[in-house]
Amino acid sequence: MLKSVIWSSMLDYPGHVCTTLFFDGCNFACEYCQNKDISKAQAIDFETEILPKLLERKPMIKHIVLSGGECTIDPQIQNVVDTLVKNGFAVGLHTNGYNHEFLAKNIHQISYIGMDVKTSFEKYDEIAARKVDTEPIKKSIESIIKNIPQYEFRTTIYPKFVNEEDCVKIAKYLGERNAKQYTLQQYKRVEGIAVIPFSREKLENIQKKCSKYVKTGLRGLIK
Ligand code: SF4
Repeated sequence: MLKSVIWSSMLDYPGHVCTTLFFDGCNFACEYCQNKDISKAQAIDFETEILPKLLERKPMIKHIVLSGGECTIDPQIQNVVDTLVKNGFAVGLHTNGYNHEFLAKNIHQISYIGMDVKTSFEKYDEIAARKVDTEPIKKSIESIIKNIPQYEFRTTIYPKFVNEEDCVKIAKYLGERNAKQYTLQQYKRVEGIAVIPFSREKLENIQKKCSKYVKTGLRGLIK
């Protein structure tokens, strides 16, 4: 369900001010998820509470990002994408890439995707806390590289399940497929979890190693 809105964001659609809509629910259960609490919020009706305001603000904001949770599994998402495209908005998506079917069906309606590559493929079961078939994730990566004008692949470096070797494997995988870029994000501590983020120095070192395969950026450094 649609649960939250940021009406003006500079962070969610690179190069554009956008409105971001957050849907609850996810097909993964990462222990460091920052968005679990979103489920407690009251549902918001897209047609009556959101769309009229988006149309009113369209002269200023034409870019809309759908985020979560994992927005692609929400029962309303197809209607939301179709309605936004029909009304002339540019639609961006934040996703973990597992719902390849949705991405394949909508790939030509979406102009930006930020996709989380959670860790190296062999460790997905651990980080997502469920059995994960990584084939749909690999297919999503390929479709995004081929079809999406603007995209970002990013990994939050949660040291319990993501280390230097994992990042280098991902960078190599992306580089071999001619991805334009890769972003490493520093893990920010979550209440109740004792995992310590990597230091800036360590992250910069990982960045350097990944950059041999694909252009790699660093984001969210806290120390
Ligand atoms: S994939 Fe993202 S939204 Fe889903 S549980 Fe993991 S961190 Fe949370």
